Amino acid sequence: MAASASARIGAPLGIAAVPTPRAAAPGPAPAPAVAAAMTPSIAASLPHRHSFLYFNSWSSARRPSPRLGSPRPRSLLPLRLRASSDDSPPPSSSAAGGVENLVIIGSGPAGYTAAIYAARANLKPVVFEGYQVGGVPGGQLMTTTEVENFPGFPDGITGPDLMDRMRRQAERWGAELYQEDVEFLDVKNSPFTVRSGEREVKCHSLVYATGATAKRLRIPREDEFWSRGISACAICDGASPLFKGQVLAVVGGGDTATEEALYLTKYARHVHLLVRRDHLRASKAMQDRVYNNPNITVHFNTEVADVESNSKGQMSGLLLNRVDTGEKSVLEAKGLFYGIGHSPNSQLLEGQVELDHSGYVLVEEGSAKTSVKGVFAAGDVQDHEWRQAVTAAGSGCIAALSVERYLGSNNLLIEFHQPHTEEVKKEITDRDVQEGFDITRTKHRGQYALRKLYHESPRLVCVLYTSPTCGPCRTLKPILGQVIDEYDENVHFVEIDIEEDQEIAEAAGIMGTPCVQFFKNKEMIRMVSGVKMKKEYKEFIEANK
Ligand SMILES: Cc1cc2nc3c(=O)[nH]c(=O)nc-3n(C[C@H](O)[C@H](O)[C@H](O)COP(=O)(O)OP(=O)(O)OC[C@H]3O[C@@H](n4cnc5c(N)ncnc54)[C@H](O)[C@@H]3O)c2cc1C
Repeated sequence: MAASASARIGAPLGIAAVPTPRAAAPGPAPAPAVAAAMTPSIAASLPHRHSFLYFNSWSSARRPSPRLGSPRPRSLLPLRLRASSDDSPPPSSSAAGGVENLVIIGSGPAGYTAAIYAARANLKPVVFEGYQVGGVPGGQLMTTTEVENFPGFPDGITGPDLMDRMRRQAERWGAELYQEDVEFLDVKNSPFTVRSGEREVKCHSLVYATGATAKRLRIPREDEFWSRGISACAICDGASPLFKGQVLAVVGGGDTATEEALYLTKYARHVHLLVRRDHLRASKAMQDRVYNNPNITVHFNTEVADVESNSKGQMSGLLLNRVDTGEKSVLEAKGLFYGIGHSPNSQLLEGQVELDHSGYVLVEEGSAKTSVKGVFAAGDVQDHEWRQAVTAAGSGCIAALSVERYLGSNNLLIEFHQPHTEEVKKEITDRDVQEGFDITRTKHRGQYALRKLYHESPRLVCVLYTSPTCGPCRTLKPILGQVIDEYDENVHFVEIDIEEDQEIAEAAGIMGTPCVQFFKNKEMIRMVSGVKMKKEYKEFIEANK
């Protein structure tokens, strides 16, 4: 993975050429040659709208409906509000310009809810959504399918859809969002300092909502097989060709593990659920679903000691250890999925704010106040008990309202009134799709386009492999879309849904989504798994265009 531009890594893919279509005539149907060359699945997918929607939803705080138009303005109209002080802030070195009211770290239900409330209160919060260190933007729900207990959705909603909606709501009311990890935080000095790889922000208050990260087993060969057989996200990786029709294993006995095991039965030949204890901790409903599924075998008192591989270096089995008898055995398995819980992402606060023995941020009971004035915590990073989307959202609300009160009572609050502007909407139209393949266009979808571009494009070809239930894929699409727009003439882009186009995903050796491959002159020159920062894709395209 991630070879440098100079180290050309790929042998040509097994991508057969497709015939050159006749010039596509305007009209509703694809040109005949194009239509004939398409697989039924591609052809069937064409009439649907593509998902490359780029919204700049900066709209008036008092206007409910989104509008079309220009990029977001930077000049807002600040209005300082003064109030009496009864809760004095830590010593302030500068309360003047350049200091934000509020920075929110985290983009799960807690972070976005805090952003919605703070933005609605005209605080213009700056949100660091994260991209890698503590999970993907959108948080843990980006790795799940149906959320059936979040109020307001009687028919359920997928995790990624729910998070999409929260994000758009925060953006609409004026939150300033950055898909960057915070790497440094100083809350010992005021104003506080928040630094990512791309910017440093000073702020009077902070909402820390970084959630929790999936735990790893730390077995000896874990790094060797990470993303090559071992995964912490069945929803993201389960559909990849590597796992289809195979025997798979899931570790854990709680809701996460049982959900992963049930989900994997859609693709796997059989799923083994490996439980260290002698019982499942999952909810009764989940237990029933597991026990009633003939494609799942539950092994109690069993831990994974290591991974076994075959002569080709692929995962072939798991070395198991019975914790009650000490008996060792090998279980055939081509994939291992972790569902063993999470650790709070509180590292940035270590030594600055009081944490409990497990690393959870300590807050005053019934509030979001931490041991440092002006620093508030919300969501799973301060909650080892309930850990639900709705409780995280509720605590995000408490945090934002507390911030408003804190800033007001310390004469620090500056209100920002947002001029209303237009919103840019750019998408591939039905007409684009009906006209069939056109090499002069930059963005494409499906294996037909990939075959054409692979053989005919003189440009750098960027291929994004996605799967329908993959939350991180949704995060990556707009990031990559923006980069591609910047290099419009120099690059071609194709999105491949690995469920629709299994054959090509297999030929490309895709083991999980999202995955990006770059091709030039029929050679793969780089493969990037997961979601990376925008600048990484930009730098690579810049160097290879
Ligand atoms: C598989 C699964 C299924 C679930 N199903 C449900 C369900 O059906 N219903 C339900 O109510 N709950 C469910 N949950 C629990 C729910 O997802 C969590 O309780 C909730 O997401 C917690 O929200 P949060 O905002 O505290 O944190 P998270 O959702 O964990 O979000 C944390 C955010 O912080 C960001 N971050 C971390 N570190 C940094 C940093 N240094 N800089 C910038 N950003 C950073 C991350 O990128 C992430 O966006 C499920 C959880 C899992 C894992």
